[in-house]
Amino acid sequence: MILNVPGSDPSSPSTPICSAKGCRADAVWVLAWNNPKLHTPERRKTWLACEEHREHLSQFLGVRGFLKDVVLLEDWESPESS
Ligand SMILES: [Zn+2]
Repeated sequence: MILNVPGSDPSSPSTPICSAKGCRADAVWVLAWNNPKLHTPERRKTWLACEEHREHLSQFLGVRGFLKDVVLLEDWESPESS
């Protein structure tokens, strides 16, 4: 029997995982952000968030003025999957 191994690759392509520290829940939300000191204005970095951490992570980015967009993961992936 194969058990779920803790510490296995968090960036597994099959199931996106929440970006919050220590959280291994499935991601539901995509937070698109940009740090104007590091990135050009068009650049988008993304964090993934589960339902529980969306508020926390978007606040973290929001207070710094980095947060650009919060989109459902399924909506984020579907439009252009070229
Ligand atoms: Zn989470």
